[in-house]
Amino acid sequence: MLLASSWRRIVTVTAALLQTAKAVTNFTGDVLNGIPVISYLDLNDVPPAAMTRYYLYGSELNAGVIPLHIPIFVARGPADTFESGKKLSISAAVHGDELNGVRVVQRVFEELETKAASLNGTVIGIPTINLPGIYLNQRNFFTSSSSGFLTNVNRIFPGEDPLEGASAPDSLAYNIWNHVWGNTSNVDVALDLHTMSTGSDAPLWCYADVRLPYVERLAKLLEPDILKIDEGEPGSIETTFVDAEIPAITVEIGAAKQWRTDYQDRVVTFIERLLDDLRIAPSDSGPYEPDLSDTWTAMVYHNLPALHGGFAETLVKVLDDVVEGQEVAIIRNAWGDVLEVVKSPKAGKMLRVATDPATEPGRSVAAVTYNTTDPDCAAGCII
Ligand SMILES: [Zn+2]
Repeated sequence: MLLASSWRRIVTVTAALLQTAKAVTNFTGDVLNGIPVISYLDLNDVPPAAMTRYYLYGSELNAGVIPLHIPIFVARGPADTFESGKKLSISAAVHGDELNGVRVVQRVFEELETKAASLNGTVIGIPTINLPGIYLNQRNFFTSSSSGFLTNVNRIFPGEDPLEGASAPDSLAYNIWNHVWGNTSNVDVALDLHTMSTGSDAPLWCYADVRLPYVERLAKLLEPDILKIDEGEPGSIETTFVDAEIPAITVEIGAAKQWRTDYQDRVVTFIERLLDDLRIAPSDSGPYEPDLSDTWTAMVYHNLPALHGGFAETLVKVLDDVVEGQEVAIIRNAWGDVLEVVKSPKAGKMLRVATDPATEPGRSVAAVTYNTTDPDCAAGCII
């Protein structure tokens, strides 16, 4: 019987040998639903002029028998476009309750399958990053150790090496970052698709760190309802790419757990514009001029917390314009007594409004967006 440390050494040595050899797609030998399982994606091995499905070996769960298998789409143009064509990644559901992006990825790849022979480049799609979150129909990744805890996977990229003892969610992030995205070598531009968190309504909007070239163009091509200038969150997919100088935005598609086909349509259309802009699926019509007449660009995202626990009744809707001091929510206790009225501290536009009345002290019952001349917020801020 081998000790765990001996196993670890063998696995480490094998991994080191693999890394010194020429990287090739590593097929584990498993096949699920007719789809091969891989633990490493080398784009050179993906069939040309085709759309291919894989499962990525993402991590393991506590019984040790069935790994997490993460669906991966790859659409590639003909072989002579491999070097010259751009590479786009579209990921969704790193938060397990944020589902509109799942359908967007599916629809984009339904389209790319019919166009693969004429593509000029590569598109990678991950429709469901956080499968444990999806299984539990909630935001975070559940880890069973220590009686259970929850991890926000969008704060731990680029993850930690499983061969160094990383947790399951850290391993998942590491394997996606290194074994699908090739530590950025497989990605020139990235979109990460989200929705607002469960319990609130929101429009179609995005976070954009416009300090990196092309990010502003990317955000404008979306023609969002709100374009939030933002310096990003460490450990998020967007910011990990941006820190590596790969243009990326976080696209927020309405509310959690609500299928909004109107917003999905707009994001699919945006991705078609982007595929044209990157010349992966070029149109003949020249560079697209975004129509920003209905887009509100804002630097500040200001959360409006309740001071008391109770039941929130909101008085505004998303995208409503509000004035300074406007009442946005009433908090009542179990008797119906009014405990407080939450007001907007500034004039602006509502980005988020609670739909779930259950409110604890400190819960942000709404968020308003506006602009400022404060130099500390020049790259965007969240209050
Ligand atoms: Zn999210």
